[in-house]
Amino acid sequence: MDDIIKAQYERLGISGEVYEFGKKTEEVLKERFAEIDRRAEYNQMKVLKAMQDNRVSTGCFQMSSGYGYDDPGRDTLEKVYASCFGGEDALVRPQITCGTHALALALLSNLRPGDELLSPVGKPYDTLEEVIGIRHSKGSLAEYGITYRQADLKSDGGFDYEAIRAAVNERTKLVTIQRSKGYATRPTLSVERIGELISFLKNIRPDLICMVDNCYGEFVEEREPLDVGADMIVGSLIKNPGGGLAPIGGYIVGKKECVENAAYRLTSPGLGKEVGASLGVIQSFYQGLFLAPVVVSGALKGAIFAADIYEKLGFDVIPGAAESRHDIIQAISFHNPEALKAFCEGIQEAAPVDSYVRPEPWAMPGYDSDVIMAAGAFVQGSSIELSADGPLRPPYAVYFQGGLTWYHAKLGILKTLQKLKERHLVNMDSLW
Ligand SMILES: *Cc1c(COP(=O)(O)O)cnc(C)c1O
Repeated sequence: MDDIIKAQYERLGISGEVYEFGKKTEEVLKERFAEIDRRAEYNQMKVLKAMQDNRVSTGCFQMSSGYGYDDPGRDTLEKVYASCFGGEDALVRPQITCGTHALALALLSNLRPGDELLSPVGKPYDTLEEVIGIRHSKGSLAEYGITYRQADLKSDGGFDYEAIRAAVNERTKLVTIQRSKGYATRPTLSVERIGELISFLKNIRPDLICMVDNCYGEFVEEREPLDVGADMIVGSLIKNPGGGLAPIGGYIVGKKECVENAAYRLTSPGLGKEVGASLGVIQSFYQGLFLAPVVVSGALKGAIFAADIYEKLGFDVIPGAAESRHDIIQAISFHNPEALKAFCEGIQEAAPVDSYVRPEPWAMPGYDSDVIMAAGAFVQGSSIELSADGPLRPPYAVYFQGGLTWYHAKLGILKTLQKLKERHLVNMDSLW
């Protein structure tokens, strides 16, 4: 069997040497992979329980159109999300166009003029700068007279409790906590640390609304932020919880009041959750959620596999190969633009879709340098599918994530290694 697998990889352009290196790496990671599998098993049972408790039936998959009144599929799905993630209520809709939209919705609906928003974990994700109004934008919170304050993390990544205490004032209404590092270099927050931060905040003011940007974090651990005191979690369905099947969508799960506010803003005051046709995509939401724990486990294995390989080859990897994981993103700093490009070309060549195109660095809105992106996805921009990108500026770091199956993630990473080796950008001799 081993021989025919190796031959199959060879047909995909993976040399014997690279294949063997991958195999050796996989051996070393056996125990960590087993741990990831156990967590996936736990989360699979969690999802199943939520589906059974809420009596999901084939009738739930019927499409609604027009106003979407009385759509049992939509309403049941929201109950499933609430049960699964531990909230009182949920809003899970194809009308929420992406993660940024879900976050903007949660903020704009739960804050009022004169309120203040606080980020106690430093600068939030790039796209939120415009939502908040850190960078001027039409329709931002700033335009509505909602102010913003931020407490940076300490240089060791710890919470700056003094600065946080000083930042909370009588106008502070909502606290936004980003779980994933996103495209920053700080560590991702574990659910445990999020819990500690929330306890601290609620001790200062029990009525603070604690929102967690849960993007890339779902199903990575056994617990989710609502289990440790968050009032609201927010995320995208073309990341983890959509399981690669949801073609669009976002969610907000949490306290009834928070979710209701969001629903009345998404549709209209007076209408709230009562309208919003599901237009035939609802089955993919259910099926994607059902598969998500296993899909996330494959992405996690890919991230660890890459970290181990590139750490051995002498590159800076965040997180390190042996570190515990709290999201699915892996960063590798190449300190060399050619290596960054070669990596992205490898990921692209491994894709099931558009494998024959070559990614080129390009100017992107919001970036001050060219950016290279590799994605051969079934769903445009889906980052639970294997994808990589990085700005062409020092330290020439690539951020990569996803992989609907572990085997695909593995091929992607072996492809990157093959490319770097062929271009003499890595020296594998020292490893043997
Ligand atoms: C992806 C992401 C977002 C924004 O989601 P989009 O779907 O790209 O708009 C926000 N926060 C974090 C941490 C993310 O990873």
